[in-house]
Amino acid sequence: MIDSRTIVQQKIYFPAIGLILALLVPVLPAAGAPAPAPAAAATVTAIRAGKFIDVQSGKVLSNQIILIRGAKIETVGANLAVPDGAKIIDLSKMTVLPGLIDCHTHLADLADAEPLNVLQRSAVETAYAAIPNARVTLLAGFTTVRDVGVYRAFNDVAMRDAIARGIIIGPRMYVAGAYVTISQGAGAMTGLPPDIELPLDLRFGVANSPWEVRQKVRELAHRGADHIKILSTGAVLTHGSNPKSIEFTPEELRAAVEEAANFGLRVEAHAHATEGIKNAIRAGAASIEHATLIDDEGIALAKQHGTYLDMDIYDEECIQSSANTPADFLQHDRDLAEAQRRNFTKAVRAGAKMTFGTDAGVCPHGINARQFAFMVKYGMTPMQAIQSATVNAADLIGHSELFGSITAGKSADIIAVNGDPLADIRELENVQFVMKEGKVYKQGD
Ligand SMILES: [Zn+2]
Repeated sequence: MIDSRTIVQQKIYFPAIGLILALLVPVLPAAGAPAPAPAAAATVTAIRAGKFIDVQSGKVLSNQIILIRGAKIETVGANLAVPDGAKIIDLSKMTVLPGLIDCHTHLADLADAEPLNVLQRSAVETAYAAIPNARVTLLAGFTTVRDVGVYRAFNDVAMRDAIARGIIIGPRMYVAGAYVTISQGAGAMTGLPPDIELPLDLRFGVANSPWEVRQKVRELAHRGADHIKILSTGAVLTHGSNPKSIEFTPEELRAAVEEAANFGLRVEAHAHATEGIKNAIRAGAASIEHATLIDDEGIALAKQHGTYLDMDIYDEECIQSSANTPADFLQHDRDLAEAQRRNFTKAVRAGAKMTFGTDAGVCPHGINARQFAFMVKYGMTPMQAIQSATVNAADLIGHSELFGSITAGKSADIIAVNGDPLADIRELENVQFVMKEGKVYKQGD
């Protein structure tokens, strides 16, 4: 989405930068610095890929060459002529695949088991504390994330823009802006006495009728959200919440989807409870987050509506093992995790559309890829698990034309691992090479 502020800033600053450069350029050669490269000549890079995972066909190809011009993939093929002067990156002993995509992260928040700890930091302190979250996620091989909510409204918008402008390092982000939630609901900052009034950014998305939902969606859309996160049921990691309860009504969920569509945005619905999952699917949500207690009818509905299931089946390991998990969260979590894993297997067997989403922030950022092994353990083939984090994820985000496969015309988002992830999916936990938009961020250990 185009950020109007960016355009205004470019208009203001570009002539000023031009003037400064005009003054500097005659000085630089005299100081012994190399002459600046002509601005129009984009760097050409050729990657030699030993094994190449073609996620669109589900096949593995050998000895492919990927030609990259600037930030984009120009061509891919077996016997390509490498242009003179191209920079060569030799990954001929490695397995090359598209940059991974996590459809459920919380990069712009504190990665803290207790949400109320947000109240002990200023918004700016939280923003700085979150910078490493973005960096470790990219270096783990995740070149794009769909970030699905933040307690401090719009910290995620600011982080997305800081990454896009090169101020900090991280994956390309698609952000929600805030949680759209009922009062004291799954996305609210709960657990405080009733006489404490929260500042606006900590209660931005609270809405209690279809028209209030529409108002929140409109404000989020105008203030830079790329998609809308709505909480259909209670949550595990919220004080006073019951994951098995219904929160928004079908009418409110439909209002969110309709209003978001008016702005060209999609809606993802957090839902654990069986009926809350079905309500969100029927309302037209693009994806169901968690989908913990989905039943056979819910799976059939998801297939019928083309709804993606984005099931975080690894993070239970972190919830239960963390010494800091609040006791009420552990209570909510009891018996849900195994049900979610069983239902994941059912959904895979039924052929439902699935994406890769980890709820990163529950587990530490940067270990997102540990979920792959669980997806395989609970029923996916390694290729299906990789597709869930590449082609499927790009389709859910709505930008298959930009990323999700190594194809001519797409962004050069490319990673590589030493071994064969189709033989051992855990190879993806050890990504050795990361390129995003043609720029190398990691090469070897
Ligand atoms: Zn989440």
